Amino acid sequence: MFEQYLSIKEQYPDALLFYRMGDFYELFFEDAETAARELSITLTSRNPNDASRIPMAGVPHHSAKDYLARLLEKGYKVAICDQVEDPRQAKGLVKRAVTRVLTPATVLEDESLDAKEETFLAALFWNDRTDTGALAWAEFSTGEWTGFESKKEQELWQWVHKLRPRELLIADGPAALHKEMRAFLDEGISLVPMPAKAYFDHAAAVARLLKAQRVTDLAVLDLTDKPELARCLGAILAYLEHTQLQEATHLAPFAPLDRSRHLLVDEITERNLELFVRLDGKKGPGSLWHAIDRTITPMGGRLLRQRMRQPWREMTPILDTQAMVAFFHDQDGLRQETAQALKAVGDLERLSTRVCLGRSMPRDLTGLRQSLAGLPHLRGLLTAAAPPPALAKLLDRWDDLGDCFDLLHRALTDSPPPTITDGGLIRPDFQPELTELADLADHGEEKLKALLAAEQAAHALPRLKLGYNRVFGHYFELPAAASKQAPAHWERRQTLANCERYVTAELKSLEQKLLSATEQRNALEHKIFLEIRDRMAQARPRLLFMADALAGIDYWQGLAETARRWDWTRPTLHDGLALRIIAGRHPVVEAVQGASSFIPNDLDLDDDRRILLITGPNMAGKSTVLRQTALIVLLAQMGGYVPAREARIGLVDRVFSRVGASDNLAQGRSTFMVEMTETARILRQATRRSLVILDEIGRGTATFDGLALAWAVVEDLARRQGGLRTLFATHYHELTSLEGRIPGVRNCNIAVKEYGGEIIFLRRLVPGPADKSYGVEVARLAGVPPRVVHRARELLQILEKQGGEGRARFVEQMACPAMLPGMEPPPLPGPAAPAVSPQALELRKALQALDVEHLTPVQALTLLHDWKQRW
Ligand code: ADP
Repeated sequence: MFEQYLSIKEQYPDALLFYRMGDFYELFFEDAETAARELSITLTSRNPNDASRIPMAGVPHHSAKDYLARLLEKGYKVAICDQVEDPRQAKGLVKRAVTRVLTPATVLEDESLDAKEETFLAALFWNDRTDTGALAWAEFSTGEWTGFESKKEQELWQWVHKLRPRELLIADGPAALHKEMRAFLDEGISLVPMPAKAYFDHAAAVARLLKAQRVTDLAVLDLTDKPELARCLGAILAYLEHTQLQEATHLAPFAPLDRSRHLLVDEITERNLELFVRLDGKKGPGSLWHAIDRTITPMGGRLLRQRMRQPWREMTPILDTQAMVAFFHDQDGLRQETAQALKAVGDLERLSTRVCLGRSMPRDLTGLRQSLAGLPHLRGLLTAAAPPPALAKLLDRWDDLGDCFDLLHRALTDSPPPTITDGGLIRPDFQPELTELADLADHGEEKLKALLAAEQAAHALPRLKLGYNRVFGHYFELPAAASKQAPAHWERRQTLANCERYVTAELKSLEQKLLSATEQRNALEHKIFLEIRDRMAQARPRLLFMADALAGIDYWQGLAETARRWDWTRPTLHDGLALRIIAGRHPVVEAVQGASSFIPNDLDLDDDRRILLITGPNMAGKSTVLRQTALIVLLAQMGGYVPAREARIGLVDRVFSRVGASDNLAQGRSTFMVEMTETARILRQATRRSLVILDEIGRGTATFDGLALAWAVVEDLARRQGGLRTLFATHYHELTSLEGRIPGVRNCNIAVKEYGGEIIFLRRLVPGPADKSYGVEVARLAGVPPRVVHRARELLQILEKQGGEGRARFVEQMACPAMLPGMEPPPLPGPAAPAVSPQALELRKALQALDVEHLTPVQALTLLHDWKQRW
């Protein structure tokens, strides 16, 4: 047995081998130790008395599911090794083989999947020769897959962070040891290095792709000029072959991701804006997802996630979606009825995948039946409500899948058992042969009694009885005294002291039928079940079309419900660059804090006001305004309503953010380094259409370094391409002097009021710079002891007296000459000079005041002489 075990284990070195023995799955050696530790099961030994003990642990096969789910959750792979012949018929050792390898990214069971979240299997490849790479990802449980090529390796990794696949296939080799890659291991992404030749080879990938997609030319898949992407897709297919041991026939037609059609929200911004999880990494209240998800179905939920990750950049899909959201928003009764109807709809995509791959259980088909039952009603409901054009078009193509529903309805029992071999699945009246078998199996006793009664009557034998024993089976019995009356064709089987036992041809045949009826019935039901499953598998394209349609409807009604609940507005989108928000709110803070206590704010960006420098004390609400603006843009470009009284939004191509001090020490990078890396990315990648949100740049370093950097960043943003739309929150008051010097830069602050020594946060964004930072007051509010607060006030006064001059000097040195709108920007001053003495400053002033053109040589010499004397 161990020989068999070891030869199988050898083929799956990276998986835990679940080896079937009787009613248990057993694990041995290291696998046993791992399983015992991870699952808290007992570690025993196969040969406890032997010197070389073999560690062993096992789980009962009927409860294996839960254990498997737990191991997958923890990122393990499990190879299921089953008995592949009937142990009763086996000669010697039962044949065993691995029937499937479960991996975190390829599970199909609902227990291991989050209904509204995707579980991605991704592959990344970088080709040094062409300096091009690709990332592809597949959602195995739904069959969706896509990917893109890029000339920037870093961009591929950014997307890995964004998508957070459960498994990431990479080419084995030195690159697999890349530091950047290793960093991912901490984050629940399993890196799966695979032999480059077998997995990422281009020719093999093409062959696999053509076969899997049943096409003859890569052009159909838009992959002709994307060799690196083809490699990644090939790797995904190869991995699926290796783990599933069957063809992944359910994968959707492949189409590359066209990033130019989407508003790009990079992984850092996604995290900073707390789209899916809070900054502390937790799910739940505090994320945008939690605040806006009102979808009912798993497909609707996943669509919402996808749109949040990739809103649109183009007007048409946004406006179409808006029209649909408005349709449900304006007719709340209809929306509620729609939501009600959607409650009966299960996860059509995943159900259909399980059906397609032959993994579905009876309850999947009843789930399908229930999902389809309500479709005609939903269609009627929507058709009657004067739908907008895009929805009307969808309703035209609507497919109730009536034939499928009818088949499931006629065939399946109301509540079939969880297994497919034990009968009870199919309604007896579904097929005449089954009706007969069921009748026999269910009414055997009655049939025997009826035969007995018939024989009693036919031969006038009222004392004839029916009996049964293990040796003869059923028999008729006559008292010895009556045995002479037995008809001649009865076959005598046994003579006892006081009775005779007989069998008849009818009795034998009836008995035979009865005995096999249950077995035959179960087998027939199994066969019918598989046929139905096949029929449903063939209907996959239709099912997926409807899954898409229902996901869309759910998405629209969900956003409509959110909009209504929080009193949101339909935004206006335009192709310009202006951004105007009246009475905007932060959707998440409002949801957590309650609408009544949130103070709305206006915000205006246009040609004259490209960059807003927002100052104000800590806790005033700077970050909140910044983030709410980004979230409003995002919601608008998802086609949704926005938390504002009015919003006019010039389409945005990318949202960039650099918010707060997100520490990445785990990856060995200091806060400041992270901050600068993120800033660098913004300065390199942002375009005229982007929206940039910067919070407290330069905080992680010495004051003057930080100020100098912040200053330079604002200058750059203000000058590039006529100024990028930027919200810049800062505590460097020096920066406020940029207003008027660079066109497009404007100061505003979040107002606070001082009243009797108290500081009151007004939360209002008002024009002009903040006059004070109120740091000490905020410290007092936070509970810093009065003696410390008092001392801090004293020190502050001293510092302010001394420091005022230093500050003015700094501004003087850094600032470029004042500019008027329309003027060509003068060249930027070079790097800041080392500290300049007051004398040098005076000299500079004198030089600036000088009118050289009208100076005679003698005057010049006299001046030089003077200056030399003075300084
Ligand atoms: P800052 O960035 O200026 O330090 P935050 O934006 O983090 O301040 O805001 C601090 C807190 O103030 C927030 O957590 C929120 O509870 C509250 N807050 C901010 N803006 C508003 C507002 N407009 N209305 C009500 N509360 C707000």
